[in-house]
Amino acid sequence: MPDTTPQPPLPPPSDDCILCGRCVAVCPLFAATGREELSPRAKFLLLSRLARDKTSRDRTAAADLAGLCLSCGRCREACPLGLSAPDALGAMRAAHPGWPEFVWGQWITRAGILWPMARALHGLAPRSGPLAAIAAPLKGLAPPRDAPGWLVPGRFDTCLAGRRVAVFPGCVAAHARTDWLRAARRLLFGAKALPADTPGFACCGEPLGHAGLASAQDAARRTNLRVWRKAGRPALAVFCASCRHGLEAYPETLFAPGEADMWRQAVTPLSGLLGDTRFTVAACAPRTILYHRPCRAPADDPDAALLSRALGRPFPHGPSPCCGFGGILQITAPDLTAKTAAACWQAHDPPPGAHVLTSCAGCATQLAAAAPPAVTGGHWLAAVRFPDDRDGDPGD
Ligand code: SF4
Ligand code: SF4
Repeated sequence: MPDTTPQPPLPPPSDDCILCGRCVAVCPLFAATGREELSPRAKFLLLSRLARDKTSRDRTAAADLAGLCLSCGRCREACPLGLSAPDALGAMRAAHPGWPEFVWGQWITRAGILWPMARALHGLAPRSGPLAAIAAPLKGLAPPRDAPGWLVPGRFDTCLAGRRVAVFPGCVAAHARTDWLRAARRLLFGAKALPADTPGFACCGEPLGHAGLASAQDAARRTNLRVWRKAGRPALAVFCASCRHGLEAYPETLFAPGEADMWRQAVTPLSGLLGDTRFTVAACAPRTILYHRPCRAPADDPDAALLSRALGRPFPHGPSPCCGFGGILQITAPDLTAKTAAACWQAHDPPPGAHVLTSCAGCATQLAAAAPPAVTGGHWLAAVRFPDDRDGDPGD
């Protein structure tokens, strides 16, 4: 059954948009398709008309068209007025929930049951239709075979000595890539952090909000805050740029007086918490290593800095082309996510044997699923190898 919790009304028509087109220039969906009607500017125009014209017979088609969005957030960064297409579309979907929102909500909120089951059944999944659309990215959720780690922590910065730190896993590491979670815990262990016991974190909430599932988003956010409070409000090590963005966006209304600042200070990138921890690159490392900077990474991307120090060379500045992960768009328009992924790989142009590292769970999943032959992609934590894996591992 669709989410029947009372939802907020459609947002007011955004007459604020001055049609300057800055968002069009950064929109990966427009770049991959050349279709102006998919651009953020067109979405704001459509939403404005939808909010004014309550009688048109074309409302459903217009809402479906407006909803074709990767939720990358690049339009908001570019917009002089800070208009965000994903936020506006989340409100629209909340007012008009349908089966894709329902399926997406189940996929995220029941990940612990559905993802292992779906992975086990992956080989049996249909090759077309909505189930196939959901099954396609599963390829990217499976740990790669025969891919030994090569990023070896050599000398730990013990800047965390005595500080209590919990790891926020996000959906992918909690339910599929537990190897990332183990690596994160071991790195913190090496940096002498005191592990905080925090079972029960939920989705950061953002993928639910952008799908219009406001009540599920609210429940996920409250769960996370409850777990954090119960653990004594430790620092939260986050290794997914999109999760971090989602956690930092929690509204003031969820917090006790003075608590919001504590939360925002607690949410920290794992790479930043590791300070000056040094890594060496093992001989088995791929010959070409590239970095894919996620759409949600901040300008001073701390993961790029860590990997740049480890590899002894800088990475290009500026955002990478969007990977095309797209959240709920995987269900509503998998052809568009595939097109954006193809454009992304074309821009990276990796030689055979190359490996593309990233720092977002969605990007890692999509890169791994859509990589060209003889090229691999994934989260940098999957490349970490410890000199002695038998040493005390608090993650197991
Ligand atoms: S969120 Fe990304 S895909 Fe969606 S309209 Fe904005 S720039 Fe385009
Ligand atoms: S950048 Fe902002 S104001 Fe300019 S066209 Fe896009 S949404 Fe409108």
